[in-house]
Amino acid sequence: MRSDPTLKKVVTVVGARPQFVKSSVVSRALQREEGVQEVLLHTGQHFDTSMSDVFFQQLDIPAPKYMLNLGGGTHGLMTGRMLEQIEAVLLKEQPNRVLVYGDTNSTLAAALAAVKLHIPVAHVEAGLRSFDRKMPEEINRILTDQVSDILFCPTESAVRNLSNEEIYRKHPAQIVRIGDVMEDATRLFGDKSRRPQNCELERGFILATAHRAENTNCQMRLKGIVKGLNALNQVRPVVLPLHPRTRHALARLDVALEFKTIAPVGYLEMLWLLQHCGLVATDSGGVQKEAFFHGKHCITLRDSTEWVELLDEDVNVLVGTDARTIEREGIRRLDMVAENDGSLYGGGHAGPKIASLIAKA
Ligand code: UDP
Repeated sequence: MRSDPTLKKVVTVVGARPQFVKSSVVSRALQREEGVQEVLLHTGQHFDTSMSDVFFQQLDIPAPKYMLNLGGGTHGLMTGRMLEQIEAVLLKEQPNRVLVYGDTNSTLAAALAAVKLHIPVAHVEAGLRSFDRKMPEEINRILTDQVSDILFCPTESAVRNLSNEEIYRKHPAQIVRIGDVMEDATRLFGDKSRRPQNCELERGFILATAHRAENTNCQMRLKGIVKGLNALNQVRPVVLPLHPRTRHALARLDVALEFKTIAPVGYLEMLWLLQHCGLVATDSGGVQKEAFFHGKHCITLRDSTEWVELLDEDVNVLVGTDARTIEREGIRRLDMVAENDGSLYGGGHAGPKIASLIAKA
């Protein structure tokens, strides 16, 4: 039910770790917009303390009004259950708009539930394409973009991708280059960073993360990553905060890890690791950019990326999962500095711009 008809009600749907970081930036800015009421729905896609609660505490995100416990299961099961339950919330709340982030199953389910109820959808991180349809994230982002009416693009290449897609000629949407909200987050919270507990690392270590399904679901790929990181660990200590999916996959792998793994860290601890490392090795989307925001080079443990401008700038390189390539590029890029003049991702001003456009829409 709409409590105050003069207020513009926005239902924001989040569910996974990167979305907590992104939405914290925009929610802050929305709170400063007059006449906007935000209702937060958490699907529960990520649910435990280290993947969810800690982000709400550290980033000062208000408790969600709706907490659905829909983590786990296959893609179809998870997305289907989300669709059903998000629809019920939207029918009850009758919002003026639904706001979604990124490329997870929560993003797609929310966008689909909303558009079928004729509720306009705004998509933050629109237009990104890896052009690899085997990635579940690629399917989620293409479909979400196609049913959104405001597409907040983080980069020039994201705008270009959308302008190349026929659908927007028949169904015009507001396509805006807005910059990247993760750069806002880096700036907003950078001063609050803190060293992870029991982590006695000297400056210049290698920070690694890995959790993409194409890597964790394939023993050969995961083995290549482990061997590559083992080799790099001979040169500089490697530390890898372990995503739960990767922990399970590694338990079944017949290669010993020679580097340090730690439990997933909170965002403020992750900022500390990014500030103090000498190189990032990752298959994460967000962490590739965060490396750059912290002036570090990145080797990306994938065959494609949607953050192509970092490749063009030669501050990031796709190394896939071949151990020798990981070792060679990792050593080559150790301690190299990535210069960020703010032109690629907007310099950290995306949140207020998004909030203002949502308030006006
Ligand atoms: N992150 C974190 N702790 C960790 C690993 C990642 O806080 O142990 C943060 C990271 O800094 C970034 C976000 O989580 O802000 C990215 O999430 P993830 O890599 O899970 O997702 P992706 O960006 O690949 O969708």
